[in-house]
Amino acid sequence: MKCADCVFWRRYKGGLHPMNRADMPNSWWARAGLCMRHAPRPMTEPGPRSFWRATAESDGCGEGVDALREGAV
Ligand SMILES: [Zn+2]
Repeated sequence: MKCADCVFWRRYKGGLHPMNRADMPNSWWARAGLCMRHAPRPMTEPGPRSFWRATAESDGCGEGVDALREGAV
């Protein structure tokens, strides 16, 4: 399943705008949101000391819970 369909995924208007993150293209960050399945993890980068994992809406991180399926149980 895609992260966009996951109950733990949060997207912010306009996507994410991290500083000093050239590991993914801007077009990816614009479609990115945060997976809140797990607690924020410490990062070595400047800025906040910890982050939730960033994933794009079309990604599948493998840990998602389908919002529709969850509601049916
Ligand atoms: Zn996910």
